[in-house]
Amino acid sequence: QPTDAAAPDRGAVVIDAVTKRYGDQTAVDDLSLSIEPGEFISLLGPSGCGKTTTLRMIAGFENPDAGDIRISGQSVLAAPPYRRDVNTVFQAYALFPHLSVAENVAYGLQQRRTPKADIRERVSQALDLVQMRRFADRKPTQLSGGQQQRVALARALVNRPAVLLLDEPLGALDRQLREEMQLELKLLQARLGITFVFVTHDQGEALSMSDRIAIMRSGRIEQLADADTVYARPSSAYVAAFVGQQNFFRGDVSDGGTTVVSAHAVVKGDVPRLAGAPRGEAAVRPENIRITAATARAGTAEVNRAQGELIGVSHLGDTMQYLVKLSDDQSLIVRRPTPDAPSLRIGDPVSCEWLPTHVLLFPLDDAA
Ligand code: ATP
Repeated sequence: QPTDAAAPDRGAVVIDAVTKRYGDQTAVDDLSLSIEPGEFISLLGPSGCGKTTTLRMIAGFENPDAGDIRISGQSVLAAPPYRRDVNTVFQAYALFPHLSVAENVAYGLQQRRTPKADIRERVSQALDLVQMRRFADRKPTQLSGGQQQRVALARALVNRPAVLLLDEPLGALDRQLREEMQLELKLLQARLGITFVFVTHDQGEALSMSDRIAIMRSGRIEQLADADTVYARPSSAYVAAFVGQQNFFRGDVSDGGTTVVSAHAVVKGDVPRLAGAPRGEAAVRPENIRITAATARAGTAEVNRAQGELIGVSHLGDTMQYLVKLSDDQSLIVRRPTPDAPSLRIGDPVSCEWLPTHVLLFPLDDAA
């Protein structure tokens, strides 16, 4: 269905109760997600949680067993991929090696018999967008990985889709280049106003770029929220563990649901979240723990304080990371900004403490 470019919901993607099975395996399980026009949304989760399958159904490479998918307000289930107002960028850029950069970008337009003058104009615009115009005559093999990825982006943008689907597009790049490209992608997306659906298993990538993040687990969405919320108020231990680092304590719940008493610490939150639950887990982020030299190796069980032995120190550049052993089966990761990191040595007895406002409490989730 041709879409009206001026339609207010152009670029909206609605996934409505979609299920996809492969044999007896349910890859996507009754999933619903409503994406706003111009939104940058990430599907984040571990390998096998259904991210790529979801993306491929939006693109039209797979069809759902149940449910509906609407793009720009219209159901697309009957439309083949090339009739959908979307384009996909994959991790493997799949550029044609024998064609120049400009010819690669022009390819799709030529297939559609776009007039030559239009093609020239749109190819240069697309190459400008990704700052690759001066490489127009090169072959892909004469480009770096990052440059090839930019060409793949230009190729996906040249026919101005309402929605761009990106499947781990930066996965093949080294870390520094990946961080540069994250920033570029985000700026580009904001400038173009195109809806981006970005698949990644890299939580840092999702946090840094997305308007909202859908954290997936076993074919479902576990939490859908912006980066601040997902980081500070994860809805489950699964999300808490997947986004950023956490220290978990498991144990019995006491104090009307505010406290988890583990073998290694008494961890108290500021709100009763586990009322009625017999067992729970408490999570504290490494950057929310203060670490100091202790005089004694082991102390009495104090609330929100644990004593242990420093067994590791790593310099991470802007932060120092400490590994503290509380017992044979519980250690703590602590991070402090380098300028105010205490100087401690391996083997030192240390004391770790944190505030109740930094404690997250969850019912025990053995699958997490
Ligand atoms: P990854 O990050 O590893 O790409 P993912 O979250 O994208 O993982 P999917 O590729 O969507 O996960 O796969 C979801 C589940 O469906 C997995 O268990 C996978 O083995 C299964 N699956 C995906 N594609 C097929 C297929 N074509 N045939 C059979 N099973 C499949």
